[in-house]
Amino acid sequence: MKILIDNGHGADTKGKRSPDGRLLEYKYAREIATSIESELKARGYDAQRIVTEESDIALAERARRVNEVCGKFGAANVILISVHCNAAGNGSWLKAGGWCAYTSKGQTKADPLATALYNAANEALADYIADFPNRKAAGDYDGKQRPIRTDMTDGDPDFEEAFYILQKTKCPAVLTENLFQDNKADVDYLLSENGKSSIVALHVEGVVNYLKSIGR
Ligand SMILES: [Zn+2]
Repeated sequence: MKILIDNGHGADTKGKRSPDGRLLEYKYAREIATSIESELKARGYDAQRIVTEESDIALAERARRVNEVCGKFGAANVILISVHCNAAGNGSWLKAGGWCAYTSKGQTKADPLATALYNAANEALADYIADFPNRKAAGDYDGKQRPIRTDMTDGDPDFEEAFYILQKTKCPAVLTENLFQDNKADVDYLLSENGKSSIVALHVEGVVNYLKSIGR
């Protein structure tokens, strides 16, 4: 089984950062993806990043790289996780927060992978989830926010969207939105050592539990 990891955006992508510039999405996603890759390798899995460049690689090229691996190993023997941070606006601190994952529309093999990632997020982000009501009371999040964002309308927790990297790749693919880069409390958590290791752990545990569930 080949586990492909995509890290969103590049050093040349405009925006995609916290309003104070402490978190750059491309850089953060690369740091997290690199740790996910080495942790999975340390546990005996075949993991590989598809974008090792610092610059932004066009989505068509990202999908081409994934599908090349699918061609070599068979799409049933490949999964893809694309690592991102969410944003509610464009440049100022806002009050949305929380973790979520996306699959392409309809019931696909990506849905159980996304559910495994949600289950792992509930465990790995336990401290973030426990602190969320306090942070909400302190005004860091508006009243609608939840630490784990779900869309249960189709019977599973993930959101479904026709994102290019999900739609155009042949293997099961999930895109994770790892908290909000324009929420101050989320950025503080993301940049903490505990936050980083929790974000890495949720991906590693989610992938490992999914592979075990399909007997791999
Ligand atoms: Zn992104």
